[in-house]
Amino acid sequence: MRIQLNNITKHFGQFQALSPLSLTIEQGEMMGLLGPSGSGKTTLLRIIAGLESSNSGQILFGDRDVTRVHVRDRRVGFVFQNYALFKHMTVAENVAFGLQVMPRRERPSPATITQRVNQLLEVVQLDHLGKRYPEQLSGGQKQRIALARALATQPEILLLDEPFGALDAQVRKELRQWLRRLHDEMAFTSVFVTHDQDEALELSDRVVVMSNGQIEQVDSPVDLYAAPKSRFVFDFLGNVN
Ligand code: ADP
Repeated sequence: MRIQLNNITKHFGQFQALSPLSLTIEQGEMMGLLGPSGSGKTTLLRIIAGLESSNSGQILFGDRDVTRVHVRDRRVGFVFQNYALFKHMTVAENVAFGLQVMPRRERPSPATITQRVNQLLEVVQLDHLGKRYPEQLSGGQKQRIALARALATQPEILLLDEPFGALDAQVRKELRQWLRRLHDEMAFTSVFVTHDQDEALELSDRVVVMSNGQIEQVDSPVDLYAAPKSRFVFDFLGNVN
């Protein structure tokens, strides 16, 4: 789904966390939000999700204006740094959860849910672990299950908040390559927050560089490096051209 943000602002009391900010995320695009701590990345993600409301501006999911629509009525999938899996449920039950809590008229039949869960476990290559509990999995496996759960409801956009932040360097690298492949196969639209340049540059179709609640630049990784549009981006990327 194509997502459009038009002139979004957000303040917390006197503090302006997002200045008027406009951005379009194209259907099937993987967009990385990169920037120093406190630059507004998580706030922007939460506003796209509907977990936080903007003070002004408009958000469109396709043609639908969702600016004042609550998170439960937007079709978004989440992946968080800490996995947020349900400890008392098996892997398969975790993946099924989003489907089982769908409004009755949209909810698939139990047989369809089972089928979809099995498909997703195959997609994330963990179909042999459906009966295990989260505590029996490695960090990388947990995050793959979190991704399967997020995709189960076929969200219009997938939002990932530092998805690999809790993993060690080798697993991060493997999971990055794996996520990029999966993204290309399934063509879902996604935005992920990171403060890791390698992650942003390796994974994104386009990178948004944020600073002080503003967008400094939106470009493909190659163009960002070749032509940083501001001193900030130049310094931030440590560009030596
Ligand atoms: P980032 O994700 O880039 O680290 P955030 O979006 O978390 O940045 O935060 C941007 C700014 O907004 C920070 O200065 C943060 O302290 C402030 N902020 C975020 N959420 C709140 C809140 N609920 N109340 C007050 N200030 C907040």
